[in-house]
Amino acid sequence: MSLRLFNTLTKTKDEFAPIDAKNVRMYVCGPTVYDFAHIGNARPAIVFDVLFRLLRHEYGAEHVTYVRNITDVDDKINERALRDFPGLPLNEAIRNVTEKTEKQYHADVGELGCLRPTVEPRATEFVLPRADGKADMVSLIAQLIARGHAYEAGGEVLFDTQSMPDYGRLSGRKLDEQQAGARVDVDAHKKHPHDFVLWKQSASNEPGWESPWGRGRPGWHIECSAMSAAYLGETFDIHGGGLDLIFPHHENEIAQSRCAHGTSVMANVWMHNGFLQVEGQKMSKSLGNFFTIRDLLAKEHPEVLRLQMLLTHYRQPIDWTDSARKQARAILNHWYQFTDGHYPLEPSSGELKPVFDALSDDLNTPAAIGLFTQTLSPMALKAAANFLGLLRSDLNAWRRWAPAGQTVDEDEIESRIKARNAAKAAKNFAESDRIRDDLLAKGIVLKDGPQGTTWELKK
Ligand code: AMP
Ligand code: ZN
Repeated sequence: MSLRLFNTLTKTKDEFAPIDAKNVRMYVCGPTVYDFAHIGNARPAIVFDVLFRLLRHEYGAEHVTYVRNITDVDDKINERALRDFPGLPLNEAIRNVTEKTEKQYHADVGELGCLRPTVEPRATEFVLPRADGKADMVSLIAQLIARGHAYEAGGEVLFDTQSMPDYGRLSGRKLDEQQAGARVDVDAHKKHPHDFVLWKQSASNEPGWESPWGRGRPGWHIECSAMSAAYLGETFDIHGGGLDLIFPHHENEIAQSRCAHGTSVMANVWMHNGFLQVEGQKMSKSLGNFFTIRDLLAKEHPEVLRLQMLLTHYRQPIDWTDSARKQARAILNHWYQFTDGHYPLEPSSGELKPVFDALSDDLNTPAAIGLFTQTLSPMALKAAANFLGLLRSDLNAWRRWAPAGQTVDEDEIESRIKARNAAKAAKNFAESDRIRDDLLAKGIVLKDGPQGTTWELKK
């Protein structure tokens, strides 16, 4: 298998060559934990989960390190803590918000079939120098000042963008172009409008840490520079996130890391997933088309949501529609029937090669999935689907799945089926039809076959 990945840095699809095949290293920007994750946030979780699975397959599970951080320091978190826990001391209120949201996030993406990353560091644990000597934000900022890439002004420490000759390479923005037309806050204390905050002072009602620049808190970008260095080193293989993070977040991560460490690259490959829209419109709270993962899981089988996500290539925008959801449901329904009673093949089987070839072509999941029912045997299909985190259940469980809260009393159904069989045996067809229609009205479909009568939920 030769893996080719589209690299935002080079704008080309390049052959992937890890720095160390014994330790392939990937970092993905994780959630800011103040509210339920929405289905857009699930996209990077699922996309990079597929890449994680593919890398583990190729290099061995123990030779891949996947780091996805938890952003647990952010002004949105403070606001939420003050709103939801007004009576508590701020730190405690913040902890309540972040722990609850983090748990929720893990439950949500776990249901969507995402493996846990190797490490999920929390930003607040990487602010100050650490006993274990791993990289931290305060030391990185001190290093940037010492090397002439950062300065103190107006109560902040700022990154000096003009000190880096190729600042803007990832996003293709040049500093002077930005200065001309851009509508960016020009704070008087900044040397250049694009200089960004590494450290800012905290008021007494804001979370803060004692630092050489007073009691304060880090800017957003520096946390990823610290946590990626802590677990993956100064230069690593792959860095991912959504398209919206290219500028300024990833641009600034690169600037900080390269300038602090004096390296020419932070990560070799930069990957970005496209955005998720709803019925052709931007997903937003004000338009009322905003779905949390939790909302959707209450109504739909998690594998349907995961398949729906993977039916579009990760770099394309995805339109999240009801008809696409139904299409994904129909495909899964077909797969469950087709593979019923079959054991999956080993993923190394030759029959799966075309599937892995498609996945290795910049994670072409729609092409890979297209091969499933066209060319694969039931055993191969099951293996390929399992590999993508699908078909994790069996036909019976799939048929009986019902949205949470809508309970199906299986014993009751079985006893109605018995009563119907008795009516049929007595040639009382009016009664047997009545029982069938009655169940149908409750969303339960009876199927008469050679093995007797089975039931499933109406799709
Ligand atoms: P945030 O918590 O907003 O920083 O977002 C977490 C991750 O979700 C980032 O990688 C974002 O790029 C990504 N993301 C946010 N909204 C969407 C969306 N509508 N479609 C796809 N990815 C998104
Ligand atoms: Zn980041």
